Amino acid sequence: MTETTRILQPKPWISGIAPYVPGKSAGADGRPLVKLSANENPLGTGEKARAAFRAAADDLARYPDPGAAALREAIAAKYDLDPARVIYGTGSDELLHLATSAYAGPGDEVLYVRYGFAVYEIAARRVGATPVEAPDCDYATDVDALLAAVTDKTRVVFVANPNNPTGTLSSRADIARLHAGLPADVLFVLDQAYAEYLEADEDDDGLALAETAANVFVTRTFSKIHGLAAERIGWGYASSEVISALHKIRAPFNVTRCGQEAAIAAIGDDDFVNQSRAQNAEWRSWLKAELESLGNHGVRVVPSATNFLLVLFEGKVTAEAMNNALMEAGYIVRWLPSQGLPHALRMTIGTEDETRGLAAAIRAALEG
Ligand SMILES: *Cc1c(COP(=O)(O)O)cnc(C)c1O
Repeated sequence: MTETTRILQPKPWISGIAPYVPGKSAGADGRPLVKLSANENPLGTGEKARAAFRAAADDLARYPDPGAAALREAIAAKYDLDPARVIYGTGSDELLHLATSAYAGPGDEVLYVRYGFAVYEIAARRVGATPVEAPDCDYATDVDALLAAVTDKTRVVFVANPNNPTGTLSSRADIARLHAGLPADVLFVLDQAYAEYLEADEDDDGLALAETAANVFVTRTFSKIHGLAAERIGWGYASSEVISALHKIRAPFNVTRCGQEAAIAAIGDDDFVNQSRAQNAEWRSWLKAELESLGNHGVRVVPSATNFLLVLFEGKVTAEAMNNALMEAGYIVRWLPSQGLPHALRMTIGTEDETRGLAAAIRAALEG
């Protein structure tokens, strides 16, 4: 009689996942550092959202509105959308996972560009689908390469526009061309986590595309410009067919009461959003110019439409050495060897003081 030993094991596609690495906020010795590693709003949260959050915190015993009706109405009113087709998630992260779970499974392919957002690979592997990376074009999304990588097995295509961690923006024409080239049975997920940082003429028109196309899912977040990363709220827009599929598998109470109230206030606070966009634009172009003046040290800045810069270190001082020097100086940025970018650091635009301090520390490490 043979005895087989039975060992508890996760599914093989789960074992194959390399977990998401969040941005750090403290050095190895526990010393708090200026955190420029997670693309959070350096101005914090608007006063209106903070007040709404505090008011809602008096009533914690009851479940939140499972349909987030007031939040959907507020979002729909702001962007002239159908509130019935707005979905919400525990961060837009949840929505990216829902989209993959609903439309892909074992044997299917999930496609995105090299140097795409790290969650796409995890979302694909989590459902047993095969992640497929199309080549980039000098760190930017290459629409032709994506289209060339589409096969009969492709079920979901992810594009972040602008993209993280590269910061690059695809034009409205490129996004339209990509959508036009995709088969009708492929879900096109257009991740617009940084859309609110764009100038009006940079808008890729994704929401208008989602308004009419049956296979486009646009996602947004309250974590970035709205300064509500702690509350974990994202939203998305698609055809009613896509939205009803996603509702079947979202967690029943996936957005908290305080989060819903804070988000409603945040989306109505144009002053805070405009102030945040302007502050970011000013210090992003300042930091970019500072770093470009260090080009003789092999420093290169990838063009960015976001609240961060991807900076390449191709000279004597490597990205790893610079990362260590910056930590020594009290700044934590994002070194990305696990995303195929061992030669790059992603730096969130901070306050004026933080950005000036960061630039001085970089200069000192290169020239010192
Ligand atoms: C930050 C980010 C998100 C999601 O953030 P949530 O906090 O989960 O809403 C999604 N996509 C990209 C590209 C991001 O950078």
